Amino acid sequence: MRARVFIGLGANLGDAAATLRAALDALAAQPELIGVRGSSLYRTPAWGREDQPDFINAVATCTTTLAPAALLARLLDIERGFGRERSADARWGPRTLDLDLLLYGDASITLPELTVPHPYLHARAFVLVPLLELEPDAVIPGVGSAAAALARVDRGGIEALR
Ligand code: ATP
Ligand code: CA
Ligand code: CA
Repeated sequence: MRARVFIGLGANLGDAAATLRAALDALAAQPELIGVRGSSLYRTPAWGREDQPDFINAVATCTTTLAPAALLARLLDIERGFGRERSADARWGPRTLDLDLLLYGDASITLPELTVPHPYLHARAFVLVPLLELEPDAVIPGVGSAAAALARVDRGGIEALR
């Protein structure tokens, strides 16, 4: 079985843009992630906790043979490979690399360690903007069109890097 998935990438410590480019390469190097494509990189104001540096954010899409929980485990492995210290991180605080599973086909998943669609996807312009760059017709199960979700939130301060 293959599913089309969308993965959110974020970083705001060190050379965040270089980290995101390397993380996209790391995703593309996984044998079970097929046809990985990344959005542009975006500079975005910190969300949730504003007392920290701007983030760089992007979204990647691919198809995968991994089941959702296995894909999440792989993403957390890659985060660790980039030096993420989860225990030292405060929620929504600064981090070297954050990989979130945004969409897994049209599935709605509630497991102890995994909620898909990502619960804040529809509320975060910094994810919706790169998602829509890759997939203008994206639909968020249980919410509706991603474009309509973006129209309901503040997208101020988000700039594509050049
Ligand atoms: P947010 O989820 O609001 O973006 P965060 O990315 O800072 O916050 P983390 O500390 O990276 O949160 O993740 C905490 C836990 O969230 C992970 O260990 C994972 O088990 C769980 N989780 C639940 N749903 C998802 C998902 N769709 N993608 C990634 N992690 C998820
Ligand atoms: Ca996150
Ligand atoms: Ca995360």
